[in-house]
Amino acid sequence: MMAHSKTLLVLENFIGGKFVPSSSYIDSYNPSTGDVCCRVPDSGKEEVEAAVKAAKDAFPIWSSKSPLERSQILNKLADLIERDLEAFAQAESKDQGKTITFARTVDIPRAVYNFRFFASSVLHHTSECTEMAAVGCMHYTSRTPVGVAGLISPWNLPLYLLTWKIAPAIACGNTVVAKPSEMTSVTAWMMCKLLEKAGVPHGVVNVVFGTGAKAGEALVCHPDVPLISFTGSTLTAQRITEKSAPHCKRLSLELGGKNPAIVFDDADLAQCIPTTLRSSFANQGEICLCTSRIFVQRGIYSEFLKRFVAEAKKWKVGNPSDPTVDMGALISKEHLEKVRSYVKKAQAEGARVLCGEGVDSLALPAGNQKGYFMLPTVIAEVKDESCCMQEEIFGPVTCVVAFDTEEEVIKRANGVRYGLAATVWSSNVGRVHRVAQKLQSGLVWTNCWLVRDLNLPFGGMKASGVGREGAKDSYEFFTEVKTITIKH
Ligand code: NAD
Repeated sequence: MMAHSKTLLVLENFIGGKFVPSSSYIDSYNPSTGDVCCRVPDSGKEEVEAAVKAAKDAFPIWSSKSPLERSQILNKLADLIERDLEAFAQAESKDQGKTITFARTVDIPRAVYNFRFFASSVLHHTSECTEMAAVGCMHYTSRTPVGVAGLISPWNLPLYLLTWKIAPAIACGNTVVAKPSEMTSVTAWMMCKLLEKAGVPHGVVNVVFGTGAKAGEALVCHPDVPLISFTGSTLTAQRITEKSAPHCKRLSLELGGKNPAIVFDDADLAQCIPTTLRSSFANQGEICLCTSRIFVQRGIYSEFLKRFVAEAKKWKVGNPSDPTVDMGALISKEHLEKVRSYVKKAQAEGARVLCGEGVDSLALPAGNQKGYFMLPTVIAEVKDESCCMQEEIFGPVTCVVAFDTEEEVIKRANGVRYGLAATVWSSNVGRVHRVAQKLQSGLVWTNCWLVRDLNLPFGGMKASGVGREGAKDSYEFFTEVKTITIKH
């Protein structure tokens, strides 16, 4: 179904139900080979203007459909993506560098589920009603879609995160202008090809490709886009907040993390070690929820470190299309350099790199020599104030440090500007509740990682975000509420 192979894939914006060629393009690279794999429209104000107009024109009809009608269309779209799951997974792996296994089992199934989930959940919201009998009044709430939603997503889980926004936005009756990351635009473009067949009316979903500085900012600054749902870095979120302030836009910001894992000496290491390896290195460590600071209670520190490093060394890094590979390539050459620079800084500060970058050698297949690969890297004896323990690295690098007491570890785990996700490992149920309550973190997993119920709120505290998304939270974000009072 894709128009690439020998010739380079050239994407087009999707505006008002039509693919529109662009006058200028950006090169997008295959991270596992270093070759240009497609050309992405370099859109700006003009394209965003056209997309917002199409979305505005489509709003009256789409917003007046019943939730059930919209739900049926979302389900049809989910079925079509699922039908093409393998093609989507191949494209995501090639475009992003992630393993084909991860794309097949996590990214694309979740994109399908996002549509199914919101197709269902939108049918089950109820409004509130209260009575004031003494004054003969009753009050009730009424929710309506807001209008044109601006959706901006990052490169790490491209279709997964974009559909996490599109699905609730359109389920609630909004129309959207979406801007995926310029580095990973292919699967969004593939999804556009399925919209008509699913019954999504023209103009309900518009996708404008391009950079954040041009296309993203044009969307953020557009006066007819009253809300922006953004997932990406904290730095970009600050800029979006500033730029949208003159319009008083409603913002949902899902941002970076510096997520701790806390391993108490009564933890079940047989569960904890494989899960913490995954939480550190899954998707090349390029998940906002990845663990990057592991606090281990002193009594088991040496044993944990020995077993953790031995298992990390077993991770196979290489061609992402090889199903036996555990870790693919990082998103870009620049990002790889940035991640590597943290390891160098840690070494310069006196920390010990126990495996991975600069310690072990990485043998790559002939076709992947120019790809952006690095090994899972474990660093010990890092000071809490080191940039490796404070800044989001967003790569396969994790720091392991020892702690003594519960009180101490809570303080140290909270001692960063971020507050997205934490994991706690202990067989003492009282302790896991106590610690979970005290962690400054929007999500706390105890004795597990990445187990999600989409019904419940997702989002971060502190510099990790503003607002929450989930069944009820997304519904509230993507609708406007009105309180109506009736005197009888
Ligand atoms: P990024 O902030 O560089 O870019 C994210 C998106 O914003 C891209 O589409 C980009 O083009 C766009 N953008 C950039 N500048 C913009 C501007 N001035 N105006 C409007 N849009 C702009 O982030 P990234 O490097 O693509 O993604 C990695 C970051 O995303 C990490 O910090 C990671 O933690 C975070 N993330 C958070 C979550 C979460 O749910 N909390 C999930 C995934 C990723």
